[in-house]
Order: sequence, then structure tokens, then C-alpha cells
Amino acid sequence: MKLQLSPITLAAVGMLLLLPLLLPPSSFYLTVGNYIAFGALVALGLYLLTGLSGMTSFGQAAFMGLAAYTSALLTIGQGFSPWLTLPLGVLAAVVGAVVLGGITARLKGHYLPLSTIAWCMALYIVMGSWIGLTGGHTGLRGIPSVSVFGWSLNDSRSYFYLAWFFVLLGTWTAWNLTNSRIGRAMRASKGDAVAAASFGVNPAVLKLQVFVLSAIYAGVAGWLYVHYQKFINPTPFSLEASIKYLIAAVAGGVGSIPGVILGSGLVTGLEEILKGLLPRIFGRTGNYEIIAYGLILVLILMFAPKGLWPFLERYLPKARPQNPSGRGLPGRLASGKPGEVLLEVDNLSKSFGGLLAVNGISFQLRRGEILALIGPNGAGKSTCFNMITSVYAPSQGTVRFKGQPIAGRMPYEVHRLGIARTFQHPHLFPEMTVLENAALGTYARTRRGLLASMLGFNRAEEAAALAEAYRALERVGLAHLAHQKADGLAIGQLRLLEIARALASGPEVLLLDEPAAGLRAGEKRQFAALIRKLVNEGVTVLLVDHDMDLVMGLVDRVVVMHYGEKLAEGTPAEVQRNPRVIEAYLGEAA
Ligand code: ADP
Ligand code: MG
Repeated sequence: MKLQLSPITLAAVGMLLLLPLLLPPSSFYLTVGNYIAFGALVALGLYLLTGLSGMTSFGQAAFMGLAAYTSALLTIGQGFSPWLTLPLGVLAAVVGAVVLGGITARLKGHYLPLSTIAWCMALYIVMGSWIGLTGGHTGLRGIPSVSVFGWSLNDSRSYFYLAWFFVLLGTWTAWNLTNSRIGRAMRASKGDAVAAASFGVNPAVLKLQVFVLSAIYAGVAGWLYVHYQKFINPTPFSLEASIKYLIAAVAGGVGSIPGVILGSGLVTGLEEILKGLLPRIFGRTGNYEIIAYGLILVLILMFAPKGLWPFLERYLPKARPQNPSGRGLPGRLASGKPGEVLLEVDNLSKSFGGLLAVNGISFQLRRGEILALIGPNGAGKSTCFNMITSVYAPSQGTVRFKGQPIAGRMPYEVHRLGIARTFQHPHLFPEMTVLENAALGTYARTRRGLLASMLGFNRAEEAAALAEAYRALERVGLAHLAHQKADGLAIGQLRLLEIARALASGPEVLLLDEPAAGLRAGEKRQFAALIRKLVNEGVTVLLVDHDMDLVMGLVDRVVVMHYGEKLAEGTPAEVQRNPRVIEAYLGEAA
């Protein structure tokens, strides 16, 4: 997706550049504007962390603090230029994030937020009590301002331009990232890690990367903060400050970039107002803001759980999405001879507690064929799929792909071998568009990483990936819905969308779990035609389905399962004649 600078965006940026010129250089409003910018940078990191990736951090102020103290100490003590201490300070935040994230980001649920709380409190104590280094709560003075081309940014107005330059840079990079393969993978692993792994995403690595990235945003904010204040003490890096940033992001709308910037504006502005107002109400001075923040957060979560931005966004004109055109991704070369064994399932078993769901199943999938796995509900077909794709570890037996054992590999590694799958109950992402859902399939075929995506060096690849995804949608007949959110789709369409996502990965082997359930008769015929076409193009298909007419008219061979065991195997005509099959299954169906 190209960055479309709408007239509204341009007007907002223009105002940002021109309004400060109308104010005196040390105007109070510019001071507030600077604090909004610092907060906006932290909040942009939270957008990536929480909004895109579904993680929560109460430690952002501590990352600010690491960068701020590093920069303060090196500029005062060593006389370094702030432009040198910017990367060094950010590096300190990165190291902190790698250590903390390495330990905790893999931990699911509440461990990450809890450990960020502990981290923020611990660092605050260190900053306050290591008096020899940090000056403790009295702090350190004499931190130099930032100079640009020999021009010292000493007043609020010139600093305003510096601070907002970084906010705009942060916005641009965050926007680029959102609309890239990495951004899509982040959104996907947030919703459904099993599905994300099925198209090649390694959620653990991605989470750590995003965690570090959010610390970089906070680190830049800390650097800006400290060279504006020219004074440092631990207060702005406390847990309370972290909570304030989180509330700002959530209040504005943590799911969008304008939302978090708006939130920073609201909370910072409100803070200035409350600072004067609350002590008058309570009759004493004190940190009453935190009570007000708590109230604001509760109200917002009750009445606008997605923040305020979605309310404003409704009144803005929407950009017309364009259909991707141009070439897709380079295809995989079909290697190997038709008829060779691609996938070999050997004596595979799986028990859940006392239940033997799959019991000693063996079969082979040969290149270029369509093989159906059929059997009544509960026969163990989906469990077989889950063992082939390494979602479940087999209790016994092996799966080999081109002679290589699959056991012990992670699901995202299995996908990268060239195996794509769909799920019996579609695992899609309702908040993403149909096109974005399909584009997820291209993840393992594309290469551009986090940094390249942020800096926009992924344009050509991204265009090709979207074109590929669009072509996959055309093939399953969903192209007309490309720009619609996936949550409006009917169940049959969801299944087709999952097939499109699998196709976009350019698979050698396609595993389809009940793909035709919920399709209408006409759609089933189209589906059968699509499968035949894919096979002609060199794809090999393993398919689970209940619809006997569809299966019998489409596939080359059938494996019949019953209570976890293999009952029969052969051509459709052979199994249809098999008395055991008739008794156990076809008889039932008839
Ligand atoms: P099918 O796809 O052929 O309808 P499944 O493979 O889904 O059958 O299920 C086979 C049996 O294993 C069923 O009895 C089911 O309840 C059980 N089963 C499947 N997955 C799990 C699981 N994750 N935990 C416990 N039991 C399971
Ligand atoms: Mg099933």
C-alpha cells in the first residue's frame, strides 16, 4: 500500500510547521507541544507493542530513563555531542529491552506486563539511590541542549521542530511497518499464534523484535526529554509515568497511529490543566493527577473501549483502496518427478488423555495427486492434519516430507518446507481486510525484515505480495471483496479465503480440512474445478471432506479412517465397493 498523503494529513502537518511561528519562542503552548511530542513517541511505541502485537508494557518510562541517563551522563561527564549520545542512549534502551524481553516476552498472559512493572520500579530505585552516578533524586544539571548545524535549539520553538521531526519520522516508520509483511504478521500473531505459524510466522522472534522496537521509540523520547529539560532526575521515568503513557495510548486509541498521538495530546493537555485545578479542589498540593487518570481510563474503557480516535475517524473521508496490479511473486520451481512420494505418514498415533484419537495410521501422498482422507466425525482426520503440520507432536510414529522427518520442527518451519494448510474452523483475522488476510500467505515467500519495512525499502516486494494475494483471491472468486473486512464474510467465503491465503504461499502441498463444508452446490463445482486446475499446475492436494459426491468425483485415491484407524485405501471406486467401508461409513451416510 502506498502512503497516500490525504489533504487532511497535509493540512495537519502544515499547521504543525506554521503555527509555532505565530507564537513567541518560549510560549507555554510550545512547551506543552514539546511534551506532547515526547509522549507521542512513547505512545507510537505502544501502538506497535499493544495495538499491533497485543502485548502490554508498564515499563516504557524506564526505557526512556535508560536512554536519558546514558545521554545525560555522557554529555556532562565526557563532553560527548548529544548527536553521539542519541544512538548510545537508544542502545542502552535496546540492551535493557533485549534482556527483559528475552526473559519475558515468550511468557504468555500476564507475565510480561507484571515483569515490566517490576523492571520499571527496580530501575527507578536504582536511578534514585545510585547517588554517586545519577545524583539521586536531586538529579543532575548542566545537560547541554541539542545543536543543529551549529544552531543551538535553546528555546521551545526550535526544540518543537526537533521533537516533532522525530514524531513525524516515528509516524512514517510505524505506518510503513503496519502496512508490511511484518506488520501483518504482528497483527496475526496477536490474534492467533497457531494460525500465524501455519503461514510461516515465528511469533516468539517477532514479539521480541517489537518489544525492542517500542523501547527504541521510548529511548528517543527520553533523549529528547532530557536535552529539553537540561536537568535529569528519576521522577519522569517512574511507574506512574509509564502508566500515564499507557493511558494516553489507550485513551486516544491504541489501535491506530493518529489515536496514540491524539491520546498523548489529550493526556498531556489535561495534565497541565489538572495541575492547576486539582490542588485548588482538594485544598492541598499533591499528585492528584493519578486519580484523575484512573477515572479517565475507567470511563474510556466503559464507553469507548477502542479509544477516541475511532469516533473522529468516522467523520474523515476515506481513501479509496486500489486493487493491486502488476506481477506477483516469482513462482517456486516445481522440483521432482510426478508420482514420487512427497509426504509419508508412518504408523502415526495420537492419544489425548485416555482417548486414542489416531491409532497407527500410515499412508503416502504422491506428487501431483489428490488424496482424500474421509471418515465420520471424530475419526481423527483433523488430528492427522495437526500432526503433519507439527501443531501436535505425535504420540508415536513419524511424518516425512521428501524423506525428511517433520517431527520436532515448529509449525512455521513445516510451512516453510512448502506445506500450506487450512483449518476445519477457519482461522482468519476479522479486523484485517480480505486482501490482507490473503497476503498473510505470502509471508514465507517474502524476505524484507523489520528495518527494511520501516524505512520503506520493501515497496517492490510488498507490491508483488499484494498482487499475488489478489490473484489468489481472484482464483477462489473473492476478489470483489478484497477491501472489505473479513468479519463480514459468510462461512463458505471464509473457507475460500483460507484457501486463497494458502495459495498465496505458493505451496507444493496443500492440506485442506473440510474446505467445501458450507459451500453451495454451484460453489462446490467451482471449488472442484479450482482444485483440478491447481493440480494441473503442479500442486499436490490432501483433502478432508464429508461430501461423498464431491470427493468421489474429484480425487485420485481415498484413505478411509474410522475411530482413529485406517479402514481402507484405494481409488474412489474401490473404497465405494469395500464392504467394511459400506458398513462403517457409507452405509451410515446413506
Ligand atoms: P475428525 O477431524 O475426524 O472429525 P478429530 O481429529 O477432530 O476428528 O478428533 C478425533 C478425536 O480426538 C475426537 O474424539 C476429538 O474429540 C479428539 N480430539 C481432537 N483434538 C483434541 C484435543 N486437542 N484434545 C483432546 N481431544 C481431542
Ligand atoms: Mg475434523
